[in-house]
Amino acid sequence: MPGFVTVPEPAEVPGLVHLHTGKVRDLYRNEAGELIMVASDRVSAFDWVLPTVIPDKGRILTELSLWWFERLAHIAPGHVLSTDVPAGAPAEWAGRVTVCRPLRMAPVECVARGYLTGSVLEEYRRDRTICGVMLPEGLQDGSEIPTTIFTPSTKADVGEHDENVTYEEIARKVGAGEAAQLRQTTVALYNHARDIARERGIILADTKFEFGWAQGGGTQEGEDDALYLADEVLTPDSSRFWARDEWQPGRAQFSYDKQFIRDWLNSPESGWDRSSDTPPPELPENIVAQTRERYLEAYRLLTGHDFA
Ligand code: ATP
Ligand code: MG
Repeated sequence: MPGFVTVPEPAEVPGLVHLHTGKVRDLYRNEAGELIMVASDRVSAFDWVLPTVIPDKGRILTELSLWWFERLAHIAPGHVLSTDVPAGAPAEWAGRVTVCRPLRMAPVECVARGYLTGSVLEEYRRDRTICGVMLPEGLQDGSEIPTTIFTPSTKADVGEHDENVTYEEIARKVGAGEAAQLRQTTVALYNHARDIARERGIILADTKFEFGWAQGGGTQEGEDDALYLADEVLTPDSSRFWARDEWQPGRAQFSYDKQFIRDWLNSPESGWDRSSDTPPPELPENIVAQTRERYLEAYRLLTGHDFA
């Protein structure tokens, strides 16, 4: 089963308990019960966490998420409490830390799509629907969809694929009212972010949000069941960002993510057989550099300034 080529060791920080090692982020809890999310430079492709890191990726994506949380707070409050690096943490944690409100996470990846591509293409070609929603005829890979569609998926463990699920399944899992709230919030967030990104030269083809509910402890009435936007938001790891000026349905799009990595791994040059159980090899320097440039470029386009 795919997974980590090299399993990362959690850091030992006084007062922090290590909770989880994700593909990209590590999660700790502090003595106040807050979550400390630390974004590493790890990169995954084809369900493998690669043996090579992309320098500064974790910092770039942390900054970008924070930028988005501020712009989306009027639609859904974000889980961010601060970006304070805990005392005694390794120096390399600087710029990678998000201190978050601990939430009861919705067990679903809330995906919104405004463009037809990826895992839903097959369903469209077969039934002219995505997630059961009927679409016009004649759409191509990369075409804009007339309305934003919510296509939830279940969260998979490291090394496993996320799976698309129906809206009804989500309603059964979390309750009808909650499912409607997740869908409505996901679509509203996507639409707003899509418009911001488009102005800045990026097509937000689709994205994945994660939400959670405050777990009690609220002091104000109604605070207990508030829905918060969690995890990372609108980064190239959780979204498809395309270059607006090069967008052309019917072919693969120029995309601000790990396309270079996927292409190289698939090329004979890498010598790697994706269908085998062998771990992927180290990435060559030029692939690392080009990938890093794409993350920086997405950051620059969206925020309007260079990454410091
Ligand atoms: P991947 O996203 O690569 O599939 P992963 O989801 O296991 O892997 P990460 O995304 O790297 O791991 O780690 C972040 C984890 O923290 C996720 O499991 C996410 O659901 C969880 N999380 C994010 N924000 C909160 C929060 N505010 N409260 C509780 N859990 C959270
Ligand atoms: Mg995750």
